[in-house]
Amino acid sequence: MLVVKKFGGTSVANKERIMNVARRCAKDYQEGNDVVMVLSAMGKQTDVLIDMAKDINPTPSKRELDMLLTTGEQTSVALMAMAMATLHIPAISLNAFQVAMHTTSVYSNARLKRIDTDRIRHELDQRKIVIITGFQGVNKYDDYTTLGRGGSDTTAVALAAALHADSCEIYTDVDGVYTADPRIVKNARKMKEITYDEMLDLATLGAGVLHNRSVEMAKKYGVQLVVRSSMTEAEGTIVKEDTKVERMLVSGVAADKNVTRISLIGLKDVPGIAFKVFDVLAKANINVDMILQSIGRHNTKDITFTIAEDARDEAIKVLEDKKGSLAFEEMSENSNVAKISIVGAGMMSNPGVASKMFEALYNCDININMISTSEIRVTVLIDEKEVEKAVNAVHEMFGLED
Ligand code: ASP
Ligand code: MG
Repeated sequence: MLVVKKFGGTSVANKERIMNVARRCAKDYQEGNDVVMVLSAMGKQTDVLIDMAKDINPTPSKRELDMLLTTGEQTSVALMAMAMATLHIPAISLNAFQVAMHTTSVYSNARLKRIDTDRIRHELDQRKIVIITGFQGVNKYDDYTTLGRGGSDTTAVALAAALHADSCEIYTDVDGVYTADPRIVKNARKMKEITYDEMLDLATLGAGVLHNRSVEMAKKYGVQLVVRSSMTEAEGTIVKEDTKVERMLVSGVAADKNVTRISLIGLKDVPGIAFKVFDVLAKANINVDMILQSIGRHNTKDITFTIAEDARDEAIKVLEDKKGSLAFEEMSENSNVAKISIVGAGMMSNPGVASKMFEALYNCDININMISTSEIRVTVLIDEKEVEKAVNAVHEMFGLED
């Protein structure tokens, strides 16, 4: 078997944990498997490096920032190879250049395009464990790039796909994907299995266990993932195309507080207005999530939408700048809102799921601001203060508890 095993920052945060991971992987190796490891930077090292950069220059160039950040992963893989040597296990560390992992050229948010597998294959043929830096790549200028925060998951999935690995295990500090964030819902239950689509919609569940793009890539190439803890032997959660074990109506409840709602009041009720508004935001690279447009009256209409709270200042600025041509009377904004979502592949064929959610919220007197739905998801916007109450009520309504 060829196994790809990815370990996040907490799993390699110090000497003891590095040794623990080394022993775990040595065991796989001794059972006769080919082992490819992908590591993140130790602990909070990426944050430390970003702080160091900003201390010297508040707006560092993205190229130099990537140059700096890639040292985090390089430290982990070298130390891991040294740890393996103390266990008398042949191992070699490789960075993105040595592999090589080719990406698009944008710094700090590059996408993997192609991975050369020759070097890895060659080292595996020598019966070595191959320890590869996560999160980094090389672009056409022969510069380092990084894949965005949390990107090591994506490195692991891409490697599993390129090497046709038999399994891809993502080790983290939680032991799987839960029906709700265990910090909010005391009796949240660990799921045995979840589909790629559900996982994508539940990205915020269970402390954001997987990098979104890694799930997209896993779905595209049919790489089955296992999310589990490096600290315990507990069975994790399997992420795959189709699940059978637990065909629940609703698989989980997610909450997201990183939301701002913006309303444009008194827009003209003529064709092209929505296009103009969202074109301004798109050109500023701002992702719009929920959208609500009121019915026109007295020749005016209102448009309300949500964006990530981080994008708030930018959004307000670009809309104010275009106030003349968009011709709205007034803009209002509220960041004390949060999204609550229920997700479940079983929803597709079962009516009444949304109303059950609304009932749970009504029962605890929570007002719904906005609603949006997809085939497998219902999302409502509520007051941020009510998040814990709402998640618990909805979780209970669908009988998701342990
Ligand atoms: N070290 C990088 C980060 O903290 C990548 C990763 O951990 O996946 O974002
Ligand atoms: Mg992570």
